[in-house]
Amino acid sequence: MKTQTLTPDRAGFDCAAALLGEGQLVAFPTETVYGLGGDARDDMAVARIFEAKGRPRFNPLIVHVPSVDVAKQYVTWNDDADRLASAFWPGPMTLVLPLKPNSGLSTLVTADLPTLAIRVPEHTVAKKLLETFGGPVAAPSANPSGKISPTSAAHVTAGLSGRIAAILDGGPCGVGLESTILGLSDTPTLLRPGGLPSEAIEAALGAPLARHHTGDPLTAPGQMTSHYAPGAPMRLNATDLHENEMLLGFGSVDATLNLSPAGDLIEAAANLFGYLHKMDALEPETIAVSPIPDHGLGRAINDRLRRAAAPRP
Ligand code: AMP
Ligand code: MG
Repeated sequence: MKTQTLTPDRAGFDCAAALLGEGQLVAFPTETVYGLGGDARDDMAVARIFEAKGRPRFNPLIVHVPSVDVAKQYVTWNDDADRLASAFWPGPMTLVLPLKPNSGLSTLVTADLPTLAIRVPEHTVAKKLLETFGGPVAAPSANPSGKISPTSAAHVTAGLSGRIAAILDGGPCGVGLESTILGLSDTPTLLRPGGLPSEAIEAALGAPLARHHTGDPLTAPGQMTSHYAPGAPMRLNATDLHENEMLLGFGSVDATLNLSPAGDLIEAAANLFGYLHKMDALEPETIAVSPIPDHGLGRAINDRLRRAAAPRP
């Protein structure tokens, strides 16, 4: 794939928005770091984000929207959210709130969690892109997994050229630090320190933030071993089918549901959570799962399948 560099003018925004509309990925500047954007409603686009970054895990992504009003379409709002959003949005603060049912967002964007991380960015280029596109944009940092976050278009090019459709070049990022992430479903909790100091947040709330300690069960929701387990036991790497089993297939096999008959890992990732739910609804005695190649996105799929198959507490 040839990665285009777009300038932040009318033609550049139109082109970037059109690419997002086709499910392609566009890197764009925010006041924190460059984000790797994809349509948050499109499973394939979100799967491409994980693929382009080479992420070994499906951790939930931050969804970017142009305004508080749009944010309220996706999450259940509360007083703390109101106070903080009035004080700090647009800006480098992400709020984690309960996901509204029928939000229309990809299950991959939340890693199938009941909560959503959402933010209104302040950077004029990010704002303009969100307005032109007119939809929610999932965007982790635009760097390969494990590498330093990019604060210029050149950093993005160095890491992701050839793996994404376009880079919207808006110059260097001002903050250069990731957004501060707050959990607001419950007691306001600092989930990740970042560009907005916690003192400022505590002053606006009029109360101290609970801290979130590494090792706490909630640190990384996606890492709780059997968080995503369907009701039925699962048998992985199934090359044959036992009696009382339904097959969640991959590749050219005869299956109840097939993650990707063509053997495409991006398509399989896009279908993963939705198909686990569908399988569950069929109430099989056991779910057998075809072997998934353990490279590229296959590693993240296998990671998630192993958690789903882990013995239940
Ligand atoms: P990045 O997109 O690379 O800036 O990382 C996003 C961060 O937000 C990760 O550390 C996620 O674990 C965290 N995050 C996203 N969604 C949620 C959520 N629903 N609950 C808790 N943390 C979240
Ligand atoms: Mg990152």
